[in-house]
Amino acid sequence: MLTVAIQKSGRLSEATLKLLNDCGISFRNGNTPKLKSSATNFPLQILFLRDDDIPECVADGITDAGIVGENVCAEKEKPVEIIERLGFAQCRLSIAVPREFDYQSQEDLNGLNIATSYPNLLGQFLKTQNIRASIREISGSVEVAPGIGWADAIFDIVSTGSTLISNGLKEVETVMESQAVIIAGKPLSPEKEAIREKLLFRIRAVNRAKNYKYILLNSPNDALERIAEILPGIKSPTVMPLALEGWSSVHTVIREDDFWELIEDLKDAGAQGILATPIGKMVV
Ligand code: ATP
Ligand code: ZN
Repeated sequence: MLTVAIQKSGRLSEATLKLLNDCGISFRNGNTPKLKSSATNFPLQILFLRDDDIPECVADGITDAGIVGENVCAEKEKPVEIIERLGFAQCRLSIAVPREFDYQSQEDLNGLNIATSYPNLLGQFLKTQNIRASIREISGSVEVAPGIGWADAIFDIVSTGSTLISNGLKEVETVMESQAVIIAGKPLSPEKEAIREKLLFRIRAVNRAKNYKYILLNSPNDALERIAEILPGIKSPTVMPLALEGWSSVHTVIREDDFWELIEDLKDAGAQGILATPIGKMVV
């Protein structure tokens, strides 16, 4: 049985449970808030914790792995290792100052009082950039600190930036990019290691699939060669004859990012009836 610590309730919880679900792992549903839950169809037990406690819990070997934001993992400075980046809960840690502050360069941070819940990461940044500023550690609602005269600037999580704007702040330095990650600590027994590999295999298949689309299109047979060149399929496209003489159906997989670029070229080459559908899981 592998044990994994995840966030009890917060921005990571829903996406983490969805990821496990997409991996075909189910949990008994109960209405009472729980500390632990065992999967019904996979040798996995989940421990629900505050995200701040997850790195230490993994470092101490209380659980075999944890899912947490890279920001929290870096701040806690525990002996844990990131074994997979998960692509959700993307955000950045940035310094923001009041909108009216005439910010020109990092030198303008000298002498400021900066509020944050990430004192270690801020301390490292100030040290490496040779900035002499003071750190005011506060645990929540950091963004209100300048408005109430508690700090001159803040160092906090930013995603869309709307929280900063509504508090009269502007982002001036990005210090770190973050996303949800799986962390591991002490070496595992061969049995647990095998379960972890099986879990990672499923997670990779689910996440890889999110970046790709399955494409189907119809092509005149004399355009097939050109269309095959345009489509960078996993190996090569599947081509099947249509009932209509002289036409074929072409199936392949392309990167989501390439879709709109390729579509024009495919149409120019003679493709018709182009369909793109999401892929559930992808193993290469
Ligand atoms: P806890 O009660 O577990 O201590 P918390 O309030 O510290 O929770 P959340 O706000 O739930 O934490 O955020 C958890 C993690 O989600 C953050 O550490 C960060 O990695 C990520 N995150 C936070 N805010 C955003 C956002 N606006 N967009 C995307 N990801 C975010
Ligand atoms: Zn937290």
